[in-house]
Amino acid sequence: MQTQSIKIVEFERPQMSAGTSCTADAWARVPQEQSQAERKALKERIKRLLKEKQAVLVAHYYVDADLQDLAEETGGCVSDSLEMARFGRDHPAKTLVVAGVRFMGETAKILSPEKRVLMPDLDATCSLDLGCPADEFAAFCDAHPDRTVVVYANTSAAVKARADWMVTSSIGLQIVEHLHAQGKKILWAPDKHLGSYIQKKTGADMLLWQGSCLVHDEFKGVELELMRKEHPRAKVLVHPESPEAVVAQADVVGSTSQLIAAARSLDATEFIVATDNGILHKMRMAAPGKTFIDAPTAGNSATCKSCAHCPWMAMNGLQNLADVLESGRNEVHVDPETGRQAYKCIDRMLDFAARQKANVRPGSDLAKEQKLFAGIGPA
Ligand code: SF4
Repeated sequence: MQTQSIKIVEFERPQMSAGTSCTADAWARVPQEQSQAERKALKERIKRLLKEKQAVLVAHYYVDADLQDLAEETGGCVSDSLEMARFGRDHPAKTLVVAGVRFMGETAKILSPEKRVLMPDLDATCSLDLGCPADEFAAFCDAHPDRTVVVYANTSAAVKARADWMVTSSIGLQIVEHLHAQGKKILWAPDKHLGSYIQKKTGADMLLWQGSCLVHDEFKGVELELMRKEHPRAKVLVHPESPEAVVAQADVVGSTSQLIAAARSLDATEFIVATDNGILHKMRMAAPGKTFIDAPTAGNSATCKSCAHCPWMAMNGLQNLADVLESGRNEVHVDPETGRQAYKCIDRMLDFAARQKANVRPGSDLAKEQKLFAGIGPA
């Protein structure tokens, strides 16, 4: 078996009653680096096993580049969490192997309960998920029964089971606009930055859970200003889980798929990118010859917990992927009743997206840039 080291990871855990948040620890298993020859052999083994087991690999943009390439080479997909789930649901394979973090495996299972869903490491989690425990979230909802509960995809099945709507970063704004137009007051969880961004754009009455993504929370507005001075022609691409001071400097604010589309289509050769740097692999493929620079996570105000790469996404490696395919271990299970409840809020979003054709239409800041989205799947 592979040697792995354990990395302690800090994340913000809200204490809603006190109106503050505290930092707690989690951990990630970091796979050992492999030689080129080892990687080549593992890739061949995985390709063979995917065929033998009639399985399909579904990977997120933030995982290791080798896994992204393997997914594409073997007829799987590389995308964001929603498209991963949709792809898995619609693909005829009986076994889905989800290279990502736990909530992605759970969402795939909720949408495809009849399929076997495997993950390279079931302990790969997310600071947004960790920072929103189901029991505390239920108490928060109970305290505000007049509000429509909207949760981000980055939550556990149990939190989704309590929600009226699930949203992703590309469609959250449109759904909140829709609810606001109906006079609904909203309880939003868990990402405070995305919630605040949507609140400002829509003017909706939103009560925000105070969670954050430990990757995006580390981008620094002051240091980004300095970087922009050094690269005056660069366009700034920002995921809305980033802090307000970073979002305010963006040329494009969007989900992962939208940012890749922008990198490909915008008339610029240099980009500063404020999202997990795993996305740069796909951006370089989509826009060869263009230059991509990580937005700064360092500087005087830095505590850099992540250095722009999610420690939990990094738990997905070639070795554990091969082992899981071979052994059938690490199956994702969702309590059937919880899954049935959680399905409703996901299905509501998918239905809304289908009615709005939101899967091919940019939201928010990108509405003027329809051409950016030609050929780009849902975000
Ligand atoms: S990058 Fe952030 S939002 Fe995505 S899985 Fe990691 S901690 Fe969660």
